[in-house]
Amino acid sequence: MLPGENVCTGCGACKNICPVNAIKMCTNFEGFLYPGIQDEKCIHCKRCEHVCPIKKNIENDEYEEYFAVQAKTDEKESTSGGIFAIIAKYVLSQGGIVFGAAFDKNYKVIHKYIAKEEQLYQLQGSKYVQSEIKYTFRQAKNFLDKGKMVLFSGTPCQIAGLRKYLSVTYENLICVDLICHGVPAPKIWKMYLRTFHKNKNIKSIRFRDNKYMKEKVFSIQYGDSKRYVKEYPNDPYIWGFCYDLFLRKSCYNCMFKGVVSYSDLTLGDAWGAENYAKSLYRRKKRTSVVILRGEKGVQIFDQISNNIEYQKVDKSQVIKYNPCIVSSVSCNKERENFFEELKKHCFRYVLKKYYYKGVINK
Ligand SMILES: Cc1cc2nc3c(=O)[nH]c(=O)nc-3n(C[C@H](O)[C@H](O)[C@H](O)COP(=O)(O)OP(=O)(O)OC[C@H]3O[C@@H](n4cnc5c(N)ncnc54)[C@H](O)[C@@H]3O)c2cc1C
Repeated sequence: MLPGENVCTGCGACKNICPVNAIKMCTNFEGFLYPGIQDEKCIHCKRCEHVCPIKKNIENDEYEEYFAVQAKTDEKESTSGGIFAIIAKYVLSQGGIVFGAAFDKNYKVIHKYIAKEEQLYQLQGSKYVQSEIKYTFRQAKNFLDKGKMVLFSGTPCQIAGLRKYLSVTYENLICVDLICHGVPAPKIWKMYLRTFHKNKNIKSIRFRDNKYMKEKVFSIQYGDSKRYVKEYPNDPYIWGFCYDLFLRKSCYNCMFKGVVSYSDLTLGDAWGAENYAKSLYRRKKRTSVVILRGEKGVQIFDQISNNIEYQKVDKSQVIKYNPCIVSSVSCNKERENFFEELKKHCFRYVLKKYYYKGVINK
């Protein structure tokens, strides 16, 4: 049996492992993807069940070291300190391949790979929507088997899915995950764009636009050179994300928090850096938190150390200002009502109603 809706993270490991492509990811009413077995194709090998990362833990190294980091280069497309871009550039310079989340032409968020630095901007920047993994685990395995260096980035559950799918340790694989608040429903994102920004010929979307002094500004650039700019959380979609109204059910009880990470490095925002990384904070540049996990994490950090400013920081201080490292957010008490109302009323009315109602979770 595949896991139920409360626990399945939609990582796609089952779809990727199925030898007869009998698993189809289907969208539920809330707009999240869940695996469905096509009986007519299934050969009952149970590989989909065995590969599920929530069913059996993967071995991981519990070593951790915390750093506050800023890229020395100006990484305009990045969300915080630009550390992802620095790691990606290192891998590309070695002839490697980089996997991560990008927008497709309709601004749906999907996983894909790039092999050239000119393409890196596509993967930079956080997209606060669940990304569809598609068959990227298979693609990564192909590159790894050919001896290519592969950097795979994603949420902690996606990395756990990849590691479980691969089942063996590859020396040429680097896994990077994010400190993760939780992922909103792709359907809500699609409906939000269609309802609130329709006919606007969108040119670009930045969930955290670096052009502004404030750390948290959401912006959409339209084709007519007008720009929609909102400071967090003053937009109905951003509000719903920040206050946990339409995150995936498994995110409210995430099994991949804290030391249970299967990545070599974990990246996040250095919230509260003014308290624990004062010298970097004074430089007035955005700062990331990097958690090194195990020997490979340390090696990669060493390789990129000439391209970053960094300072070792105290784990407890970092967690104090960024609790998502160790704990899941709680479910907004209006989540169920929100989705129930979507069955009966139009999207604009429901999203705005909950936005103006302002039910926060604290
Ligand atoms: C859904 C989500 C929730 C987050 N919640 C927190 C949080 O609570 N606290 C915190 O400190 N940081 C959080 N982050 C991480 C943070 O936004 C930055 O990505 C991180 O600080 C790294 O910044 P950067 O400048 O190095 O890289 P950036 O260039 O900003 O990061 C890009 C990386 O993020 C990956 N990525 C982007 N969107 C997605 C997605 N939808 N799914 C999977 N991977 C994605 C890309 O593949 C790439 O590896 C979250 C990110 C996402 C996507």
